[in-house]
Amino acid sequence: MNIGILAVQGAFIEQEQMLSGLGASCFEIRQKSDLSRPMDGLVIPGGESTVQGKLLRDLGLFAPLKEKIEAGLPVFGTCAGLLLLAKKIVNDERRHFATMDITAVRNAYGRQLGSFYAKAEFDGLGIIPMTFIRAPYIESVGENVQVLSVVGGHIVAARQSSRLVTAFHPELCGDTRVHRYFLNMIETLKEAKRSEV
Ligand code: GLN
Repeated sequence: MNIGILAVQGAFIEQEQMLSGLGASCFEIRQKSDLSRPMDGLVIPGGESTVQGKLLRDLGLFAPLKEKIEAGLPVFGTCAGLLLLAKKIVNDERRHFATMDITAVRNAYGRQLGSFYAKAEFDGLGIIPMTFIRAPYIESVGENVQVLSVVGGHIVAARQSSRLVTAFHPELCGDTRVHRYFLNMIETLKEAKRSEV
């Protein structure tokens, strides 16, 4: 399975290590020519959504990636990646890919609780460890969005068909279940496509 990892800023190396450890072939996306490689899934790492959004545009990656995501390329966005995929961000005017029907709050936990660790139920995976770093949360979701995890009354993981997001960083927790979930999701979507034909 070929996974493209957006590598313009943020915690992309940890994502690569996690997914390679699970047997995926990872490659970094830094410039437009990287998009010509076969890609079964895309990872948008944590970092700074505003910086990533700007760099994506400056590097000419924004439009082609948006097109691929809209065409159904499976994508996993963590933290800043969640913000890049959200249709609405209540406290930021900037919009990025805006392809997932969720409303997010940026830097939602304020300064004091900026970074914290939790353990909570993730739908189908059991209790998993979660590292939050100046994280967003999801305030509300559209009809076709499945809520996968809630911490302290706030949605922290969700899925809408080929799009998966977590407000936390599963790649920093030493637990592979969320990444396995993403790889299984890609397989299942592929099979569904095959049986359509
Ligand atoms: N606070 C960051 C943002 O607004 C997200 C933090 C993260 O990705 N860990 O983009």
